[in-house]
Amino acid sequence: MDPYLRRKVIIDRMNELESSGKDCKGCSGTCCTYEANSMMVTPIEAVELVDYLKAKNLFDNELKSRLLVTVSKYRLDQAVGDGKRSFLRRTYTCPFFNHKELGCPLPREVKPFGCLAFNAHDLEKKAGEFCFSEEKVLLAREAASLDEAALNQKIKTENSLYWDKTPLPLALLAFFEP
Ligand code: SF4
Ligand code: SF4
Repeated sequence: MDPYLRRKVIIDRMNELESSGKDCKGCSGTCCTYEANSMMVTPIEAVELVDYLKAKNLFDNELKSRLLVTVSKYRLDQAVGDGKRSFLRRTYTCPFFNHKELGCPLPREVKPFGCLAFNAHDLEKKAGEFCFSEEKVLLAREAASLDEAALNQKIKTENSLYWDKTPLPLALLAFFEP
């Protein structure tokens, strides 16, 4: 499936919100920073982004260094838990964030699903207070991408991945040559 089609349901909803004035203009990008970002991606999301970055000659050592710095700074490779359960969700400033309004340089067709689904839902307040993901939109996207479970499994097997979802920097690092 085409990367855009895989995200179409969410992108359509973004366009709908934006055309009613519920957009990200004026926000510093809170949801891309350690204040609110804990984005995790699946293998297919990682592969589609890696393919895009390679096509743009951006999957290079400079990116690798930035990813490693992010992993180290926010300890993304260390599981957190409560003694009984262990899980890998920490907040971090995204290594792609430009630190300015509308600061994501990635095109919508390769952005993580969770980034696309997290949107402003208020005409005035746009610093995160009235921003959220709509579960029904995420579920509708899943329902429209029936090939995805098998595809994720195939990518896991071919690349010896142990995760179903992991923070974006760790996911991309898995596709660099050792
Ligand atoms: S991929 Fe883009 S939208 Fe998602 S957290 Fe990073 S900078 Fe923000
Ligand atoms: S979704 Fe909300 S927090 Fe994220 S950039 Fe848009 S307005 Fe800001």
